[in-house]
Amino acid sequence: MLCERCQLREAMIHITENYGTSRDEITATTKRHLCEACGEEYQRESEQYLKQQSSHLQAEMSKAERAAAMQQLRDDVRQHMTDWISRR
Ligand SMILES: [Zn+2]
Repeated sequence: MLCERCQLREAMIHITENYGTSRDEITATTKRHLCEACGEEYQRESEQYLKQQSSHLQAEMSKAERAAAMQQLRDDVRQHMTDWISRR
């Protein structure tokens, strides 16, 4: 299987990401198949994006608000990384 991003090298890294409201309730699963180089970039990009976006979280948020915001954030990261892979 070729890397989803560069379509040049063999995919050596297989990432399965689960999304849901809790550990028991997974609403979506995303699988990524990447070569080593793209896998590293993927990791870097998603961490950077998460850091960037989580800076918008407010300290004075209630627990429920924060949980909802984190849920939204995970969806955003997933969307961002899907775009990132297809964006080459
Ligand atoms: Zn690649």
